[in-house]
Amino acid sequence: MEVDFEACKACGYCASVCPVKVFAQGTDINKKGYAPYRAVKQEACTGCLRCFYMCPDFCLEVTGSARAGNIGGKT
Ligand code: SF4
Ligand code: SF4
Repeated sequence: MEVDFEACKACGYCASVCPVKVFAQGTDINKKGYAPYRAVKQEACTGCLRCFYMCPDFCLEVTGSARAGNIGGKT
């Protein structure tokens, strides 16, 4: 998973639904004045896509292990 830095509103929904705690809030501020979340534990991602469907601003791009065949994997 990758977070779109400029689109993220730092609501934290992705972090709240991720069962393996892939996301953590960063410290850099984007143009909207938010400190976006980042996918800091990519290797733990199971590809469940909970974050992808939860994000209200469509900030998440499916990359890495989520794309590599874990889609639909057990969580
Ligand atoms: S796809 Fe699932 S495991 Fe991967 S980052 Fe999103 S919520 Fe977490
Ligand atoms: S759910 Fe979307 S907008 Fe909210 S913190 Fe996560 S990536 Fe950012």
